[in-house]
Amino acid sequence: MVKFIFGHRNPDTDSVVSSIVYANFLGKKNAKAISLGEINNETKFVLDKFKVKHPEIKNSLPKESEIVLVDHNEKVQSIKEIENLKIEWIIDHHRFDLRIEYPVNIRAEVIGSTCSILFKIFRENNYELSKEEAGLLISGIISDTLFFRSPTSTKEDKEIMNELNKIAKIQDLENYSLEMFNAKSDLGKIHVRKLIKMDYKEYEFLGKKYGIGVIETTNPDYVLGRRKEIMKEIEVLKKEEKLNGILISIIDILNEHNTTIVAEEHEAELLRAVFKGKEIEHNLYSLGKIISRKKEIIPKLEEHFKKQKLL
Ligand code: MN
Ligand code: MN
Repeated sequence: MVKFIFGHRNPDTDSVVSSIVYANFLGKKNAKAISLGEINNETKFVLDKFKVKHPEIKNSLPKESEIVLVDHNEKVQSIKEIENLKIEWIIDHHRFDLRIEYPVNIRAEVIGSTCSILFKIFRENNYELSKEEAGLLISGIISDTLFFRSPTSTKEDKEIMNELNKIAKIQDLENYSLEMFNAKSDLGKIHVRKLIKMDYKEYEFLGKKYGIGVIETTNPDYVLGRRKEIMKEIEVLKKEEKLNGILISIIDILNEHNTTIVAEEHEAELLRAVFKGKEIEHNLYSLGKIISRKKEIIPKLEEHFKKQKLL
C-alpha cells in the first residue's frame, strides 16, 4: 500500500519539502507526498528553483490509508478524519498534543526544522541525496529558522545546512535566503482570508480553540496597510470557525519585530497580559522581539491558560 506523506494545513516550506524528500527516500512505489492545501509563494519559488513538481493537494484520504505526518502532530492541524487513517510515523519538531490508540513510530527532536531531522535520518540510512533534494532540505531549514534569526534555530541546523550545501552548491546562502523571503513577501492582491491563513494554525488551550497566524515578511508595511481589512476578516473567521480568539502577528523578518493584530478586546487583553504588548493603535500591538510562534507565543499562552485553570 502506498503511504501518504504530508505536513500541516496551510503548509509552509518545511512541511512541503520534507514531505517530498521523505517520499523520495521511501521510494515512488511506496510513498506519495501530498499537501493539505495550496502552497505559499516562498515554497513555489523553492520548488520552481529546483524544478520539482508541486505536490498534489488533497484534503481527505480513503479510509485505512497509511500516513506519515511530518512537521506536525496535532489533530487540529492535520488531515480531516484522521481517526480513520493509520499513522505509521510522526517526524516532528513541535510540542506534542497527542493521543493515539495504537502503537506508532515517532522521531522528534528539539531542532530548527523537520528538514534537519530528515537529514539525520538519511545519514543514519546512508541515503545519498541528490543536488535537488539537498537544495530542498536547505530551503526548509532557512524558512523555519528565518536564516537563523529565530530562537528555534540551533547550531546543529547551521552545521546541517553547510553539510547539505556541499551537495546543493548554492553559491550565496544568505542571498538565497533573501530571495526566498522576498518571494514570500510578494503578496500582490492576495485575498485577505488567504493572507490571514498563509501561516496559520489552530491550538486548543483548556478546551478553548484559538487561531494563531504569523505573517513573516520583509515588507511589513504592506500587511500593516491592510490592517483594518484584516481586523474585519478576523471577526468573520472567528464566528465562522467557532474560535475563542484569533491573533495575527506580522513578523518583520529583517528587523526581527512582531506587530500583532486582534479584532476584539478579549484578545487585546491577552496581548497586554501575556506578552506585555504595547498598544500602537486600537487593536494593534507591538510585541517586540517575540518572533517564534512555536518557542515564544504558544508556550506563553499555554502557561497563561494553565495559571487560569488553577485560579
Ligand atoms: Mn511548519
Ligand atoms: Mn517546521
